[in-house]
Amino acid sequence: MEFCPKCGGVMVPERVDGRRVLKCRSCGYVKEADNPGSKYRVVERIERHPLDKVAVFDVDVATLPVVPFKCENCGNDRAYAYEVQTRAGDEPATRFYICTKCRKVYREYA
Ligand SMILES: [Zn+2]
Ligand SMILES: [Zn+2]
Repeated sequence: MEFCPKCGGVMVPERVDGRRVLKCRSCGYVKEADNPGSKYRVVERIERHPLDKVAVFDVDVATLPVVPFKCENCGNDRAYAYEVQTRAGDEPATRFYICTKCRKVYREYA
């Protein structure tokens, strides 16, 4: 069972936009359920492109290959590898790593 980080209330599973989330019964706080099959929304800020600042893409991590990757955030050593073509078509595809444990997103800089 999970408890709300804000008020300590009980978090109950719910569906929002087809995704599984946990919602606090007391204050309504919502967090992503720890569900490897759920869609995972990656939001990435691209500072070098002022006109195209935020890349948002939906990733079904269940379909992604898992590769060895050292997560600095939680010490985990595996991540989902994901390649995305940014909207600027002249750029090579960018590779992202999403920690399988804490879901921190890393961008690979060429
Ligand atoms: Zn709460
Ligand atoms: Zn991690």
